Amino acid sequence: MSRARVDVANGPAEDPSPPPNLNFTKPFLDRANAKLIGEFTARFESVAIHFSELKGEIRIGMTTSYNGLALTGTKGGAAFDKLCFPPLCRKGLPSRYVIGHELMHLVQSKDGSIPLTERSCDIFTLARLPASLLDHPPLYLRMPREVRAAWNSPAFHRELAEAAHLLAIEAMVTRKENARYISWWERRFSEKAARIIGGR
Ligand SMILES: [Zn+2]
Repeated sequence: MSRARVDVANGPAEDPSPPPNLNFTKPFLDRANAKLIGEFTARFESVAIHFSELKGEIRIGMTTSYNGLALTGTKGGAAFDKLCFPPLCRKGLPSRYVIGHELMHLVQSKDGSIPLTERSCDIFTLARLPASLLDHPPLYLRMPREVRAAWNSPAFHRELAEAAHLLAIEAMVTRKENARYISWWERRFSEKAARIIGGR
């Protein structure tokens, strides 16, 4: 386990920079209220502090087609990062996990060492976020339906989230030696989750 790879998991820990500035689009603001925007900002920042390589401004827009959407590019010669979420008044706050997954897409777009697939985005997000922020199961990784259903149950959530987080770190740091690190995670997590849910 080399030091450099662990740093990828935890973000550049030596940099105590504040979370990125949020710049909301009008459609997003129009479908929220001040209380929801305040709650969204607090939740977003609680996740974004684990992505200290993302500096500057993130534009927050609205999507009605996805649970979350990450966009990067340039406009007028300036680079921009934009994340879109469903309207807060209608859907409530996005989960911390979905926010983390979309932030990891922004990291993917800047860090050429991270594979650009959805499933690797899930692995890197699970590895990056502490278990306490894994309030939703990974979006694209396969897991048995009963495990997905049990993810947020008070009896199992903490153990499932911790197992998912620790196995994701292991999968990520060994991926150079194990090209099938994603299916490795899926298999190992399913075995572990079956033991957690089965009480063994
Ligand atoms: Zn995604």
